[in-house]
Amino acid sequence: MGLLTEFFKGLKVTGGTMLRTITGREVVTTEYPKEMREKPQRFHGRHVLNRYPDGMEKCIGCELCAGACPAHCIYVRGMDNDPEAPTSPGERFGYVYEINMLRCIFCGLCVEACPTEAITMTHLFEMSTTNREDAIYTRETLLMDTQGNVPHMFPDDPLADQEELLTADGWLRATASSGAAAYEGVQMWQGTPGPADWDPEPDQDARDSKQSDDADG
Ligand code: SF4
Ligand code: SF4
Repeated sequence: MGLLTEFFKGLKVTGGTMLRTITGREVVTTEYPKEMREKPQRFHGRHVLNRYPDGMEKCIGCELCAGACPAHCIYVRGMDNDPEAPTSPGERFGYVYEINMLRCIFCGLCVEACPTEAITMTHLFEMSTTNREDAIYTRETLLMDTQGNVPHMFPDDPLADQEELLTADGWLRATASSGAAAYEGVQMWQGTPGPADWDPEPDQDARDSKQSDDADG
């Protein structure tokens, strides 16, 4: 008797769910690409190379991103800046920068490794290609222009929402200290498992003034 009761209880749950789905009261399918689901703030999508507000490139060609990449899909070559007309504030800049998107696992380790927040990720994930060469994103495709516009490999792709290159996490990181501006005042990621007392993310001004205080001793 007990078993039969449990059986009918289970059937009731299944039947109820079926009814809600069939009648449209509980829709679990998104009609992509007609409808786009809102992505989480820290969604790992297509990369972008950022600039400083004055137009200087943030990449200093240090290759740390390439060293951190577990899929070995980043290739960087640095070149000395022209002292009269530097491309980046460092000694060097990344004059070759490539990411092979066929190998990328979108882990974000390159973003974590970068000392200047030059490489960040956006919310755009529509990147299908019909050949292997087009999946290799070059500096020209990754680097935003001086107005903050990010080029898309296929600007006419009907599936690619170009706005996602502008409104996503990676774009905001160009103007925030370490993460989207929305994370200011929010506790940072923990470097180790378990409880830890981490300071919240500061804003750019607070971080800059702390660095200058530290430098002054
Ligand atoms: S997201 Fe991960 S796999 Fe992709 S380029 Fe960056 S480090 Fe490499
Ligand atoms: S993107 Fe960042 S880590 Fe990679 S070479 Fe440029 S400055 Fe270095």
